[in-house]
Amino acid sequence: SSKEGGRNTYTFFTESMNLEVSRELALEEQMHNALERNEFRLVYQPQVEIRTGKVIGVEALIRWECDVLGNVCPEEFIPIAEHTGLIIPLSQFVLAESLRQLALWQKDYNSSFRIAINLSPRQFRDPNLISFIEEKLNVSGVAANTIELEITEGVLMSGHSFIDDALKSLSKLGIRLAMDDFGTGYSSLSYLRRYSFDVLKIDRSFVKDITVSSANRELVNAIIAMAQALGLEIVAEGVESSAQLDYLAKRNCEYAQGYLFNKPITPAEISEMLQKQKNKSPQMIIGSIGLN
Ligand code: C2E
Ligand code: MG
Ligand code: MG
Ligand code: MG
Repeated sequence: SSKEGGRNTYTFFTESMNLEVSRELALEEQMHNALERNEFRLVYQPQVEIRTGKVIGVEALIRWECDVLGNVCPEEFIPIAEHTGLIIPLSQFVLAESLRQLALWQKDYNSSFRIAINLSPRQFRDPNLISFIEEKLNVSGVAANTIELEITEGVLMSGHSFIDDALKSLSKLGIRLAMDDFGTGYSSLSYLRRYSFDVLKIDRSFVKDITVSSANRELVNAIIAMAQALGLEIVAEGVESSAQLDYLAKRNCEYAQGYLFNKPITPAEISEMLQKQKNKSPQMIIGSIGLN
């Protein structure tokens, strides 16, 4: 390219890149002590059994309220935590805190209540991942089969044998595995078989247009049919309208998560919801078998 043109482009990119880099450095710097400053907390988004309307579990989602930078969303800080390695202590916080919380909910409301926790690719390089999880299972006393670990397709792409080993160990412990954001990555049917997943989460980008785009409808139909053929449970992500829910229900999609039901909410709000559900559960059971 010409010198002038190249130079303009160069200047433009360095300016925007400088902004990006300094934001990243600021985030990185703040993140180093954020755990000790107790700036991270977990919110929980209900997962609903479509047939009964019952909340059967939650997904734990991390939030960072930084003293200096304000609220930072996980899509921005998780990648930085990954490349700095801070994701390891951060994820240990997520695992420990969410299992501690789950134990309380199981004791107070529902012994089969479940939790889904996101794992990031980098955690698979942590040789202590399995033993850490095992320890937290023991400390909290929750049953392994009430824990679901969410993994994106990207994790499986690398083909590293340690990922293979880690997933097998997790399954052996009785922990359930969910494939998150299904359809957005390099989806491979062979991954689903090879790694004994229990749950497939349909990405919200597919759910979004379900009622307006027939192409998306066909895709969702195919994903659901495939998951059913493989014996996987299906969770639809990002359900925002009752029209979307109706469509999914007709296709026998079992579980849904989304703003139609709840945004991610505080532990106290989940407790309140579980208390209400416990009080009215007899009617809900009658409703679900069609006697009302
Ligand atoms: P994800 O695991 O796919 O989580 C679902 C995201 O969709 C959440 O965003 C949730 O708030 C949002 N969502 C749920 N229902 C709806 C809906 O109806 N409409 C729309 N538009 N959005 C909805 P969030 O909490 O900002 O998290 C973003 C991503 O950050 C997560 O995507 C996950 O990949 C990552 N993440 C969050 N918490 C953790 C964590 O503790 N560890 C790791 N490794 N990653 C996490
Ligand atoms: Mg997830
Ligand atoms: Mg997802
Ligand atoms: Mg996602």
